[in-house]
Amino acid sequence: MSAEYVLRTQNLTKTFGQHKAVDNVSMNVRKGDIYGLIGKNGAGKTTFLKMVTGLAKPTQGAIELFGKKDVQSGVELQRKRIGCLVEEPGYYPGMTALDNLEIVRRNLGIAEKNITREMLDFVKLSDAGKKKVRNFSMGMKQRLGIAVSLIRNPDFLVLDEPINGLDPSGIKEIRDLMIKLNRERQITILISSHILGELSKIATRYGIIRDGALIEEFDAETLGDRCKRCQKVVVDDPARAAKILEDRFGIHNYDVPDRHVIRIFERYDEAENINNAFVMGGVALRESMLVGQDLEGYFMDLLGGDHRT
Ligand code: ATP
Repeated sequence: MSAEYVLRTQNLTKTFGQHKAVDNVSMNVRKGDIYGLIGKNGAGKTTFLKMVTGLAKPTQGAIELFGKKDVQSGVELQRKRIGCLVEEPGYYPGMTALDNLEIVRRNLGIAEKNITREMLDFVKLSDAGKKKVRNFSMGMKQRLGIAVSLIRNPDFLVLDEPINGLDPSGIKEIRDLMIKLNRERQITILISSHILGELSKIATRYGIIRDGALIEEFDAETLGDRCKRCQKVVVDDPARAAKILEDRFGIHNYDVPDRHVIRIFERYDEAENINNAFVMGGVALRESMLVGQDLEGYFMDLLGGDHRT
């Protein structure tokens, strides 16, 4: 069965003067994904998300939402199924969270009155009671922003750096909220960040944006594989090597990704003994090395150098 896509862009481009802020981006977000769009500051994340949510007009390219591509087929109608937090909503700072939500509800013409309290509960702001928004912490403001974006009961949520500037407990709250929305409400989520570690615990798929271009898209599984530490051994006969691993060392945590490679995922400090045993057992050993990288290091390379800014 082919995947069902919530968002697909084709060669999406946005130019400011001579500068391509978003450069030919073809992205695929599948139904059910928590898609992490990762890039350094200025890489083009916000501009991209603005085009997707209709806040900016593309210079070139196409946006397909829920399978609808053009005006005739009703792509604009599909935008109503998006909830977004791309620019900070204009709150009334002297009012409570509930009053702010109530104004949004009325402005959108949503009849269901209970929705405001329900959303407040959902983002765990019910306790804020009479507290005015101007006295909210950053985390509380972000959660209120998410409550606003949820009020239309969206199928697709687009959030621009919702974790930016939050302390670790605030980050965890947003992460937990994303998981809850995704699992309990089946909402597909596209979320941007300049720090991979913040998304690596929840994202199911990643897109890496660099200088406006989407340089790679991959699944969480692939990321796990790429960052797995292992002893990679190139041999003539992996089956014979595998037998030695099992019989002599009791090692079962290995795989054979191609005809001549065996990767061992444990007991790295015994590499020399293992290699000797291979040779003694008649395996021709061509190469042996310890490979693998931590997540942040891997992404630092992908994003292009220092991405702490
Ligand atoms: P940040 O996290 O810092 O917002 P970003 O990845 O979201 O980074 P964008 O805000 O999309 O990046 O900016 C991409 C590039 O486009 C930057 O070089 C920025 O200066 C430029 N840019 C964005 N908006 C405009 C605009 N309205 N006019 C001119 N240039 C712009």
